[in-house]
Amino acid sequence: MNGLELQNIYVSYGDQWAVEDLSLTVGEKEIVALLGPSGSGKSTLLRAVAGVEPLESGKVLWNGQNFTEMPAHKRGFVLMFQDGQLFPNMSVAKNIAYGIASWPRAEREKRVEELLEIVELPGYGTRRVNELSGGEAQRVALARSLAPRPRLLLLDEPLSALDKALRERLAAFLGETLRASGTPAIFVTHDPEEAEAIADRVETLECGKLR
Ligand code: ADP
Repeated sequence: MNGLELQNIYVSYGDQWAVEDLSLTVGEKEIVALLGPSGSGKSTLLRAVAGVEPLESGKVLWNGQNFTEMPAHKRGFVLMFQDGQLFPNMSVAKNIAYGIASWPRAEREKRVEELLEIVELPGYGTRRVNELSGGEAQRVALARSLAPRPRLLLLDEPLSALDKALRERLAAFLGETLRASGTPAIFVTHDPEEAEAIADRVETLECGKLR
């Protein structure tokens, strides 16, 4: 199939399964929410897909190709976290360009401008990151994640540090932005409303297993 296919994934810490016999597909333009309480294995699964958490067994396939042993930086998947993890001393533009530093300058600058439009922060390129509001910073983090045109975006509770009103607005915006750019995503959250607002499909995780 096209897109992501996880086959019987197991991840353990010591003698405990954090993820147990988990199989899941994400279509090439699909946004899947992974919903579950704290400790249910959501972050572990995302890290396993990204290639930064070793699997005990199971397979990660992309467009039918076996990615299980492929190093993280070659997968073309991007992980984005709750707190965006922007570089505080760099400008917004430099942060967005971080993952495309090897692109020719003109192309890189064009891509940054395009992304500033997409996340509705035109003209913000020269601002410093520590001058941004929480919501603006997460939109910059999203732009940075999208810059290299990832095959798949892995979002780990990207809105949960924000207050409720902003979270609701950004949830709708995030869904629209991912659909407009045609980027498939796994979106991790413990909030059922947020999951429904963003995703095409919601999958529920409990104790490392899909329900
Ligand atoms: P979630 O993202 O749903 O909150 P996690 O994937 O962070 O869940 O954790 C799943 C389980 O694995 C939990 O029981 C947690 O305590 C355990 N766990 C997560 N990371 C580690 C680690 N680095 N070492 C040991 N246990 C871990």
